[in-house]
Amino acid sequence: MIKKVLIANRGEIAVRILRACKDLGIQTVAIHSTADADAMHVRLADESVCVGPPQPRESYLNIPSVISAACVSGADAIHPGFGFLSENSTFSHMVNEHGLIFIGPKADHIAMMGDKIMAKKTFSRLGLPTVPGSDGAVTNVNKALKMADEMGYPVLIKAAGGGGGRGMKIAYSKLDFVEAYETAGREAGISFGNDRVYLEKYMANPRHIEFQIISDKFGNAVHLGERDCSLQRRNQKVWEEALSSVLSPEFRDSFGRKIARAVGKLGYLGVGTLEFLYENGELYFIEMNTRIQVEHPITEVITGIDIVREQILVAGGNKLSLSQGDINFNGHAIECRINAENSETFIPSAGTVINYHCPGGPGIRVDSALYDGCKVPPYYDSLIAKLIVHANDREQCLARLRRALGEYVIDGIDTLIPLHLKLVNNPDVIAGNFDIHFLEKVYK
Ligand code: ADP
Repeated sequence: MIKKVLIANRGEIAVRILRACKDLGIQTVAIHSTADADAMHVRLADESVCVGPPQPRESYLNIPSVISAACVSGADAIHPGFGFLSENSTFSHMVNEHGLIFIGPKADHIAMMGDKIMAKKTFSRLGLPTVPGSDGAVTNVNKALKMADEMGYPVLIKAAGGGGGRGMKIAYSKLDFVEAYETAGREAGISFGNDRVYLEKYMANPRHIEFQIISDKFGNAVHLGERDCSLQRRNQKVWEEALSSVLSPEFRDSFGRKIARAVGKLGYLGVGTLEFLYENGELYFIEMNTRIQVEHPITEVITGIDIVREQILVAGGNKLSLSQGDINFNGHAIECRINAENSETFIPSAGTVINYHCPGGPGIRVDSALYDGCKVPPYYDSLIAKLIVHANDREQCLARLRRALGEYVIDGIDTLIPLHLKLVNNPDVIAGNFDIHFLEKVYK
């Protein structure tokens, strides 16, 4: 049994993990940069260790500092959260080498899914449909051009090591293919240290639908239903819903079980998300995230399952406490990502939060690390809070969301609250009528 967890993260996700640990009676160690000395996650943890200066590379991403902090504080496990070191297979391997538990999958599964070409091949072999495209990496421009011609334009050139909405180039026709292909390879080499690229059919009007899974080391795996994350900007999610309004209960059940079987066969351990594009009634796999995701709370509120708690328990060697038949879906949930960004220009905003007032009442959950007077430093991801709303159905959920957004006050910095207010009142959003391009088309 895990007794003490070092949380290798900051902000709302560090607080979220802390809460799961406290509920389990597990001691917590926070790490922080010098910029975060007064942060909420540091205040709430049992202990804290400063791991370096503000720049992430020198603190939250500094592997020797993070592992040393775990060793000196006597932690027996490290939870990486999301972002930072969460999908770094070298880190997870080193954590194990130091006799500590990495709360996440095995290092080889992180590496496998971190390479999107391998991920697609693996799940295609395990029987899941994937987005049509090249069979593996394309290394020769002439062969790539021939393949793109056969596939039909537009074609997406994707970096095998891409992530965070980066590492994709669209070729709309034969004329711009060669340039797009060469730029994609060059940029991928610089950004991800891996210049391998592959081709995918660029889907015109898909929805982004993803399935949450969790499995234990005994090969038991279940799915917790899906989330619709189609409202995106620059391929990054802004608003998520569970469940999706386009999948029927029968389709969800049979497809979800198929996914759980594939994950069980793989011997995957812990939580993960399989992402798909949905078009014309079909789901096509694009990638798997091997960590807890930002949007996990909407699944928690409709299933009543504390996913982070389950994640810690299976990492500690416990058997999954749930079987597929125990999992029920109640009502509808929506999450709005509250980023510290200008809601029209999307320029990040840093500063001191004043007049902080958090919404409440039936069906409202706010995951954040904000408090009146807290600092939002300029060095980190702009996600500062998540507003999660739950109700019996989608219509009531939208009404509660409208109320909660109206109550939410965060002064002193710019946030995406004004954008969410527009979305919650938009007739197409209300009708559930959107795809991955909707948000950018309507609110450039
Ligand atoms: P990342 O790891 O950067 O998040 P993904 O492969 O998950 O990359 O893709 C992110 C988003 O990009 C998707 O949610 C979708 O909006 C868009 N996208 C990815 N692949 C395609 C495709 N083949 N056609 C159209 N849009 C795509």
